[in-house]
Amino acid sequence: MLIDGAWEKADQQFDVINPADGSVLEAVPDGGADHAVRAVEAAHAAFPAWAETTAYERAAILMKAHALMLERRDELARTMTLEQGKPLRAATTEVRYGADFLSWFAEEAKRIEGRTIPSARRDQRFLAVRQPVGVVAAITPWNYPVSMITRKLAPALAAGCTAVLKPAEATPLTAIAMMRLFEDAGVPKGVVNLVTCSDPVPVGKVLTTHSKVRKVTFTGSTAVGKMLAGKAAANMKRVSCELGGHAPFLVLEDADPVHAAKGAQLLKFLNTGQACISPNRIFVHRSKVEPFVATLTERVGRMKAGSGLEEGVSIGPLVNQAALDKMSRQVDDARSLGAGVACGGDRLTDGGLDRGFFFAPTVLTDVTPDMLIYREETFGPIAAIVPFEGEQEAIAMANDTNYGLAAYIYTRDIARAFRTFEALEFGIIGINDINPTSAAAPFGGMKDSGLGREGAHEGLDEYLETKLGGFAI
Ligand code: ADP
Repeated sequence: MLIDGAWEKADQQFDVINPADGSVLEAVPDGGADHAVRAVEAAHAAFPAWAETTAYERAAILMKAHALMLERRDELARTMTLEQGKPLRAATTEVRYGADFLSWFAEEAKRIEGRTIPSARRDQRFLAVRQPVGVVAAITPWNYPVSMITRKLAPALAAGCTAVLKPAEATPLTAIAMMRLFEDAGVPKGVVNLVTCSDPVPVGKVLTTHSKVRKVTFTGSTAVGKMLAGKAAANMKRVSCELGGHAPFLVLEDADPVHAAKGAQLLKFLNTGQACISPNRIFVHRSKVEPFVATLTERVGRMKAGSGLEEGVSIGPLVNQAALDKMSRQVDDARSLGAGVACGGDRLTDGGLDRGFFFAPTVLTDVTPDMLIYREETFGPIAAIVPFEGEQEAIAMANDTNYGLAAYIYTRDIARAFRTFEALEFGIIGINDINPTSAAAPFGGMKDSGLGREGAHEGLDEYLETKLGGFAI
């Protein structure tokens, strides 16, 4: 753990497991509430000096971190593949995406501007300035271990905030590598701190209740996010949450079903379906179901599961046994209620895969609203196809969820694209586009999918306070 510029051990350690074969990779310090308190105090002590640096000084450090991330790309990607499971190529792409946040917010730091406001009084001048909020507590998930760190810490540092990071228990090694990188980039001691732990509850409690924490930023499940946001709100801390999703993927009447199916295959199985923006319900116009399912199934059938370090592997393991059990539960439930299984449907065990948490990439057809998968976030490699007849019906079904993160539309009709874009209650919408994300674009959800936005100008605003001066002259 990194506290006030010193690397610390703890009395206890916990093992980090490779989900591809169940082996132990390394043991890391198992921190507790007292470590969290010291980390918050270190961040608080480091805050005044860091907040005083110029935007140009902070930008230079962030750009150095960006350069180091690209330099260490292969090493970071390998660590991520080992502890998280995604294929090396996907891990490499994530490192690049993660690095983008550093350079984008380095530039944006220089544009933290205030404004003057005309007064109704002749003897008064108004000045609104923006200042860093203070100590930030960042809690990150295991599915995107690198980019979720930079998506939070880059804007926090750019704004002049200091931070305590608590990574997910499954992926602390990537977080440790990132902290070393920040140190090497010249981030002063105490400005970023790291507490690793196997039980997030005591550390989480400190981070959401300590009076010196001014802002909590969280990415993870909706249940935990609601609980943490509640605690942080009771202590009047600013909160942003990026939570679960249940993305609809709409293949409208005029869409090219083959093109849409190619997109669905690339998107659905990315990160073994363990993404909050992964399509959970694929609504296909009844007239296009046949070619869509044929293309999707054929492409899914060609996917190779295995360790992410192996050449040619396109789909890695799930994170743990609980995730495997959830896949079986959703497939069994759908099957029993009349869904078809076009491919997959079971755990993969051949060729040593039984040592890891592998589930076959699966396509379910004729999924209906009474099935678990229609409501519950899957977070795994199951594509659920729901046929529909009319555009209005599809939009109503797509919006019929408590989630509101991402949605996707396939159509070749511009008017239909606009209508659907406007009618969908989701924060991020891809129109014939399976990757509507970028460091420069606001990412976040509506309804139970979260509060606030990450990336873009909005992502920086989350770490800034507005201060008003009224000057009598
Ligand atoms: P998932 O179910 O996808 O693992 P979680 O929401 O449980 O998602 O995990 C996301 C992050 O939230 C992880 O860093 C995890 O350690 C953390 N977390 C989970 N429970 C708590 C809690 N009670 N307090 C603080 N952090 C928590």
